[in-house]
Amino acid sequence: MPFRPRYTGLIERYRDRLPVNDDTRLISLGEGNTPLIRLENIPDLLGKDIELYVKYEGLNPTGSFKDRGMTMAVTKAVEQGSQAIICASTGNTSASAAAYASRAGITAFVLIPDGKIAQGKLAQAMMHGSVIIQIKGNFDEGMQLVKEVAEHAPVTIVNSINPFRLQGQKTAAFEIVEELGRAPDYHCLPVGNAGNITAHWIGYCEYSNGGDKPITEACAFCAGEGHCRFASGAIVSQRPTMVGYQAAGSAPFIQGSMVDNPETVATAIRIGHPQSWDYAWKVQKESGGWFDACSDEEILKAQKMLAEKEGVFCEPASATSLAGAMRDIQNGKIAEGSTVVCTLTGHGLKDPDTAIKQSTSPLLTIEPRLDQVKKAIEENMAG
Ligand SMILES: *Cc1c(COP(=O)(O)O)cnc(C)c1O
Repeated sequence: MPFRPRYTGLIERYRDRLPVNDDTRLISLGEGNTPLIRLENIPDLLGKDIELYVKYEGLNPTGSFKDRGMTMAVTKAVEQGSQAIICASTGNTSASAAAYASRAGITAFVLIPDGKIAQGKLAQAMMHGSVIIQIKGNFDEGMQLVKEVAEHAPVTIVNSINPFRLQGQKTAAFEIVEELGRAPDYHCLPVGNAGNITAHWIGYCEYSNGGDKPITEACAFCAGEGHCRFASGAIVSQRPTMVGYQAAGSAPFIQGSMVDNPETVATAIRIGHPQSWDYAWKVQKESGGWFDACSDEEILKAQKMLAEKEGVFCEPASATSLAGAMRDIQNGKIAEGSTVVCTLTGHGLKDPDTAIKQSTSPLLTIEPRLDQVKKAIEENMAG
């Protein structure tokens, strides 16, 4: 049997494009390398000729894309001698920070909005032994507190304002380009703090930059130079149009200003004061993309459709990318013949309560008898 090298995470894989050196101790759980799944049934249901993919980031070690950023952020924190990390979180950042901190042997302090994070995420933060600080307020208030306390306490912030987070997250774009052999025409993402849409753009720019094209200042390592020092040559010639979708009750990019009381069933993007506000507008302009909003109803419908028609289970926030993409494919804003990638940011198991609440699958209870099972089969056979 032929052997292949064990996959040991995205820093090792993209070492030459990330700010680490040979001596750096890598804090990794084998994140990245997630499947790019081509949807087979939904394009037919839409009646459109479209090459539609989902990048299933829910298959990262802690069940969300946050692991891509966290492996870098915690690796650098440890390299710099930090004994503790801190973050504000709508859930997934805390789960990821908790896991990587335990791996590194340092302490994670996580600030979460009291009662507003999904069960699975809370379970993770608890299980990995982080210090959980529930605040009687929302994510934005937690974020403000984290920024303030980090000025006084010996803790490293691992929210996406930490530039190493975006460096790790840009690798998702690398993987997509490598698998498609090109950049997609459109890349659709759910937007909360807008770190991920920024990170993807950094990645696409690096892979399309031959060294002579200006690229976004969003890359912490290109800022000021206008060229990316990590780009050794163009790998592909084009970059996608970046499209960001927000939940309607939590949509500062659509409103054009900050939102003070964000509300949505998609708790992972219940953010009214995005930390990467300026970067994301730059991404929108540079890529010729747009922002739009989806109602909670549309989001849940897309989540259910994806699970029922394609066998892919993502959390509500993640389905926002597909909800928006389906609408823009239907109305022609995304043209037929296009290649489209939607990022599914987190796993459906993160939020079982919301899933069970909206499920319409028959849940039958019977006596343990053959005739009753047969009857259940007969009555529920499809077609
Ligand atoms: C963090 C998160 C988002 C939002 O990402 P940003 O970088 O804050 O825009 C979306 N979906 C899920 C599941 C998340 O955990």
